[in-house]
Amino acid sequence: MNVIYLDNNATTKVDPAVVEVMMPYFSDQYGNPSSIHRFGGMVSRDVEKARASVAKLVNCKPSEIYFTGCGTESNNMALIGFADMRGRNVTKIITTAVEHPAILETVHYLEKKGAHSTIVGVDGDGALDVDKLVEHVDANTIVSVMWANNETGVIFPIEEIAKKVKSKGGMMHTDAVQAAGKVVIDLQKVPVDMLSISGHKLHAPKGIGVLFIRESVKLEQFMHGGHQERNRRAGTENVPYIIGLGKACELALDNLDHEDKVLRAMRDRLQAGLMATCKGAVVNGANEDRLPNTLNISFEYIEGEAILLFLDESGIAASSGSACTTGSLEPSHVMRAMGLPYVLAHSSIRFSFSRFSSESEVDKVLEVMPAIISRLRKISPFVEGEE
Ligand code: PLP
Repeated sequence: MNVIYLDNNATTKVDPAVVEVMMPYFSDQYGNPSSIHRFGGMVSRDVEKARASVAKLVNCKPSEIYFTGCGTESNNMALIGFADMRGRNVTKIITTAVEHPAILETVHYLEKKGAHSTIVGVDGDGALDVDKLVEHVDANTIVSVMWANNETGVIFPIEEIAKKVKSKGGMMHTDAVQAAGKVVIDLQKVPVDMLSISGHKLHAPKGIGVLFIRESVKLEQFMHGGHQERNRRAGTENVPYIIGLGKACELALDNLDHEDKVLRAMRDRLQAGLMATCKGAVVNGANEDRLPNTLNISFEYIEGEAILLFLDESGIAASSGSACTTGSLEPSHVMRAMGLPYVLAHSSIRFSFSRFSSESEVDKVLEVMPAIISRLRKISPFVEGEE
């Protein structure tokens, strides 16, 4: 099927170069990296090379990289590992209202188990009040703030937040699942204690993640079992996917500057074109620093899901900021946290690009969208002016 795939914040195509390096580990190189024999030892050396490639992408030591099963697991490992080390009853967690459920649901879980949480809101542009966020940080606090938001692409000032959290003796985690491979991450400059990455957002397969844990950080073990990952993540290593992730990180680092320019230009052209041709279009997070590949745009008085269906008919895959919850369309928690009016919160669409996106795909979206918007607006159940 020929699809115009503009949903790369949901997942990305595995890069063919990544597939290629993975293949031998499904067939000839099937040794267990923990084995004493040379057959396992060869694989272990390759896993360590991949670890070094991941470390290079974020400028940390390879020994600070731990492979996990996904971004969700990395987030769970960071928060639960900290709470169990400190004691769940004394742990304080500070996070934002726009985090991914992989953080918010983990925070709710820990709260049920005795931890104390504070969820800090954002303004209409999706920005945070950093001083308010860090006001009550102390040595029993873990602050978890995403590097970049998956829906709007809004980038939070992680360096500033981390410095403030560290100056108060707190622990700092960032969910960098959407940022890794899209923007520069320099862990020598940004003093976060822990950082999560997910392979499938940067052209590696689904089912491989990373938690960076700074050397000085102590965490309670999250997965119990064997001694893999220096006793921090039990379970036989997913060797082919680790090798794939190493390659994906090399490619991301090599292409970072180029892709920033190319994807930003594509995104900006799409944004300008839609603003010029579609009535009632509003860009969400427009006033903030955003990921170069992400455009989140609302079209007043139209259901985002309806736009998606029409786009789908034209072979275009994007995503919307609302989800069907118990039979009715609810705006996402991100749109709600930004306080978007009803007619905008329901009508948001996210286009997200990757290195496999092309200018002709932007042309196609610009060609079909004005007709979709005017057709849907004619049959919109919302009466203009009402909220
Ligand atoms: N965090 C963010 C910001 C995400 O966008 C996602 C996936 O959409 C995740 C965490 C979860 O990552 P994974 O799918 O690898 O569990």
